[in-house]
Amino acid sequence: SLCFHGIEPAPKDPILGVTEAFLADESPHKVNVGVGAYRDDNGKPVVLECVREAERRIAGNLNMEYLPMGGSIDMIEESLKLAYGENSEYIKDKKIAAVQALSGTGACRLFADFQKRFLPDSQIYIPVPTWANHHNIWRDARVPQRTYHYYHPESKGLDFASLMDDIKNAPNGSFFLLHACAHNPTGVDPSEEEWREISYQFKVKGHFPFFDMAYQGFASGDPERDAKAIRIFLEDGHLIGCAQSYAKNMGLYGQRVGCLSVLCEDDKQAVAVKSQLQQLARPMYSNPPVHGALVVSIILKDPNLKSLWLKEVEGMADRIIGMRTALRENLEKLGSPLSWEHITNQIGMFCYSGMTPEQVDRLTNEFHIYMTRNGRISMAGVTTHNVQYLANAIHEVTK
Ligand code: PMP
Repeated sequence: SLCFHGIEPAPKDPILGVTEAFLADESPHKVNVGVGAYRDDNGKPVVLECVREAERRIAGNLNMEYLPMGGSIDMIEESLKLAYGENSEYIKDKKIAAVQALSGTGACRLFADFQKRFLPDSQIYIPVPTWANHHNIWRDARVPQRTYHYYHPESKGLDFASLMDDIKNAPNGSFFLLHACAHNPTGVDPSEEEWREISYQFKVKGHFPFFDMAYQGFASGDPERDAKAIRIFLEDGHLIGCAQSYAKNMGLYGQRVGCLSVLCEDDKQAVAVKSQLQQLARPMYSNPPVHGALVVSIILKDPNLKSLWLKEVEGMADRIIGMRTALRENLEKLGSPLSWEHITNQIGMFCYSGMTPEQVDRLTNEFHIYMTRNGRISMAGVTTHNVQYLANAIHEVTK
């Protein structure tokens, strides 16, 4: 007989739990700086104009047939140009194995499964801290995990020396998960010079970099600039893996559209790797969803829509950068003796505030402000209407 009765409920997801608690709160002052999704200055979700236009074109013309197993060829081609560069010789030489993936999460998972199937003895090095789901993904793919130093709590910046030591001390040929830009949850990225040193050391050690690029364009406002780390590794002649997501930079969160790519030694290897990635996807979901892929390829293939998109990404990034300045200035105006420089030094969607779990609890219980207990503030939830209230509350619990 079936015996499901012994099954305990799974632990609550810490991030989704925050939203639940926020929704249940009836205070008019409540603020949600937990979610990792962009909001406009009125706290409302945003659908980009370029996306609306692409959807009009889809509604007028296109069918809903299955995509090929590897996903939309057009979407993949445009994604590779964004990550590897418009004129990348690797694209021309067909050295990149790439498939459409179920957004960034699905791209990471497919890669983890690939790693397990073809390099069963390999491990993955993951930064401390990281997006919590990275641990779940590689755990469920049964790839052993190691960690490497990344964040330096005292400086609220990068622990570069320890990071480099960990790279040097890892066995030759190790797999490393790197956040390509706008590191989640810390908002701390290596500088260009530091990336060059990291890339150099990877070369010495023969490590394989797997870039999770969930925020291309969200860090600086310019997707080209945000691809800098990847381009440095490419210049240095590495083979790389890359997970791309259109959740944030096109606001396509629920459409689940992304791309997994693996730069191979030659075109023959790329054909083999792509076919194996498809083989992994086939028994899981057969083929990826069509709507988001159409939206992305329509936007990126039309120069006018693409430039509209670039303007809109920049607009989102700029609003966040503006809110960083406003939050810091408000804290300083209130006379906080603490340094809040890291709010404006960090980039991307998140600010790793340095607040303790107890301080976060006070923000929630006394001020109806919701966020994860690691002190991560989603800057996307900060607006001109709530920034002063937020600064005041942070000041109260940190003084
Ligand atoms: N990687 C990182 C670092 C992220 O922060 C996220 C989104 N929270 C993702 C991947 C994946 O997001 P999605 O699956 O929605 O593209």
